[in-house]
Amino acid sequence: MDKWEETFLREIVELDTNSDEKKNYQACVDIIQKYCEDAGLKVEVFDSKHDGIPQPNIVATMDASAKTTVLLCTHYDVVPPGDTADWTYPPFKLTMKGSKAYGRGVTDDKGNIVASVSAAKELIKRGSSKVNWKILISPNEEIGGEWGIDYLMNGPPKIRGDFGIVVDSGPEYVSIGASGVIAGTITVHGTQGHAGYPFKFANAIHLSIPVMQSMLDYVDLRRKVESEYPAPPGSPHRTLWGRFSMTVYQAGSKTNTIPGKAEISFDCRTIPEEDVEEVAKDLEQFFKRVKEETCVEASLAFKTKHDGWGSDKDHPMIQKFHSTVKELVDPAIVISADLGGNDGHYFTSHRIPTVCFGTLRDDNNYHGLDEFMHIDDFDTVKNVLIHFAETCE
Ligand SMILES: [Zn+2]
Repeated sequence: MDKWEETFLREIVELDTNSDEKKNYQACVDIIQKYCEDAGLKVEVFDSKHDGIPQPNIVATMDASAKTTVLLCTHYDVVPPGDTADWTYPPFKLTMKGSKAYGRGVTDDKGNIVASVSAAKELIKRGSSKVNWKILISPNEEIGGEWGIDYLMNGPPKIRGDFGIVVDSGPEYVSIGASGVIAGTITVHGTQGHAGYPFKFANAIHLSIPVMQSMLDYVDLRRKVESEYPAPPGSPHRTLWGRFSMTVYQAGSKTNTIPGKAEISFDCRTIPEEDVEEVAKDLEQFFKRVKEETCVEASLAFKTKHDGWGSDKDHPMIQKFHSTVKELVDPAIVISADLGGNDGHYFTSHRIPTVCFGTLRDDNNYHGLDEFMHIDDFDTVKNVLIHFAETCE
């Protein structure tokens, strides 16, 4: 990491761009624009101004007069730091220590913005790129991409390209897909009353136990759903699989009160081949049977539904990207799909073959305390992007 890159990263890490508050978005984009132009990129800014708040997106173009255009997807919003007193290094300050750089968003995803822009700077200097680039630098990734990448692809800007790289992923494997997610809440309805008279009321906590016991069968059912896409190294299965977890339990308020309501929230992960609407229907059917079998009054409501996505691993550009990573990083690096979700579906829904690669290594504490990036990973990502642009057609 050179001085230009470090200063660029420092200036944007110092701005709190958490997507809950959406403050400092404009200031952050102004800095990024300055560095993009310094790198020789042509900058366009598309701001949805949704809700009257600046939510600017940058499209930074490297025009190599090539027939192929590669879209690089990055984001400048971050998740809130939580209690800053719990951080060893202040979240909104770049701390360089040994082989690591610390700060909120340093690896997710501001370091990847700097790696992408710096790679373009090098390619422009050398005049060596065989493809055009559009680096998309968006807000709101952490809250689903609305008015961010969604706005660039599906709003008025209608950005298009021939290949996508989501530079918001890890360097341990080349990802070509991600899981979908369905989240929601099961509410068990009882009646509230004085705990001295339990025979008079229907205790929602007691009633929720057989419901949850039956929903455990759905955990087993989902586990049997198998994808064609390989699971990341270290997974308990060879390929991606369906998942269902009960993740939040809320009931009761006082020890002397029979609770009238219990809420069980869940998170269901789908494989790229599944349609979330179909899975949601299946879950509803299963839940209906649970209600009949347990004779408990309960209801189910969905909160989130996002499809997974997957690209064809045999696509020539995906093969080329994989061989670039094997050559530069490690010949043993495999192609996998992610157990989590990401923004790749905004590309693949427009039939743009897409890979994910970036600095977000497992140990980086992104979304946690003392988020950091390995400086070696920064150099790796930059070099992979440069080499890929110089050798793909
Ligand atoms: Zn991210």
